[in-house]
Amino acid sequence: MQIKRIEIAGFKSFVDRATLDFGPGIAAVVGPNGCGKSNVVDAIRWALGEQSPRNLRGRAMEDVIFGGSESRKPVGMAEVSLVFVNEKGQGPATVRDYAEFMVTRRLFRNGDSEYLLNKTPCRLLDISELFMDTGIGARAYSIIEQGKVGQILNAKPEDRRFLIEEAAGVSKFKARKKTALRKIEATGQNLLRLRDIIGEVK
Ligand code: ATP
Repeated sequence: MQIKRIEIAGFKSFVDRATLDFGPGIAAVVGPNGCGKSNVVDAIRWALGEQSPRNLRGRAMEDVIFGGSESRKPVGMAEVSLVFVNEKGQGPATVRDYAEFMVTRRLFRNGDSEYLLNKTPCRLLDISELFMDTGIGARAYSIIEQGKVGQILNAKPEDRRFLIEEAAGVSKFKARKKTALRKIEATGQNLLRLRDIIGEVK
């Protein structure tokens, strides 16, 4: 999978809709200090489902919405869309047959938020599952920002293991195991309650 296009609107310094096209090979984003280069990386990470404002260099998630400037008023919504080329047919059935697909995340100032896959509302889980074991993802190794290499070298073995598992294709199964264990736990609780009720009826 490869990012083909990013559309950003109302996100951090990108108040008006901006489109960045990435062709095959190396793409570089250049510009003076403070012009918004890192905000592009934040936008990718955010659209992939990042949940921690700190990892987006903010204090609250609302900080990603354009907060106004000398000449422009704040806006009420941030939206980022990522278009992926999927020629190898990777990912779950929802996207495997698409040569291209688009994921979108929106956040409104009142706290409402939504994720969309090909313009259809979906869950964060659906977005996360698209990229499991591809190396793409809010926490995966496709985004290597300043200081990341040193961070990986100095990381605790458990944290480094996360990256190795993602590369080895184990993450998807670990996530499914976690969901299955949660269901087993819930079913166990239901059984207990059922036994209590049966005991009372007897
Ligand atoms: P450097 O080269 O110094 O690392 P950069 O090009 O990576 O800079 P960014 O850090 O991406 O720049 O962008 C910083 C700019 O984004 C600042 O001018 C900051 O005011 C602006 N900015 C960040 N969040 C918001 C927001 N919510 N609303 C408006 N502007 C914002």
